[in-house]
Amino acid sequence: MIHPLEKKRATYLTAFEEGVSDAFQKGNMNESKRSSAYYRRGYEFGITLKERLRNYSMKCDYCDHIEYYEDENSFFQGEMFGLNDDTVSCPNCLEKQPNSKITEERLNES
Ligand SMILES: [Zn+2]
Repeated sequence: MIHPLEKKRATYLTAFEEGVSDAFQKGNMNESKRSSAYYRRGYEFGITLKERLRNYSMKCDYCDHIEYYEDENSFFQGEMFGLNDDTVSCPNCLEKQPNSKITEERLNES
């Protein structure tokens, strides 16, 4: 026999999952389910995730900084730097990277 609490939890989780799924696939709430707070939480979570996926993003290898870009153009003009060793650095961490190509070029210039 399934414990009543287990059953309740399963219902909440199902509502949450349906919310996430509707956000992704349909982009609008199911009217018959929107009265459930769990469904709405899932839906909002789904919309947030979808936003993030749609944008281009790049993570710095030296800190937890993640840069989000609106589109391809802003992505290529973005302020993240690829280094010689195939790592990616944000502007803040760049100066701490002794092996960075950009740092070398800067040193040669001066
Ligand atoms: Zn960084």
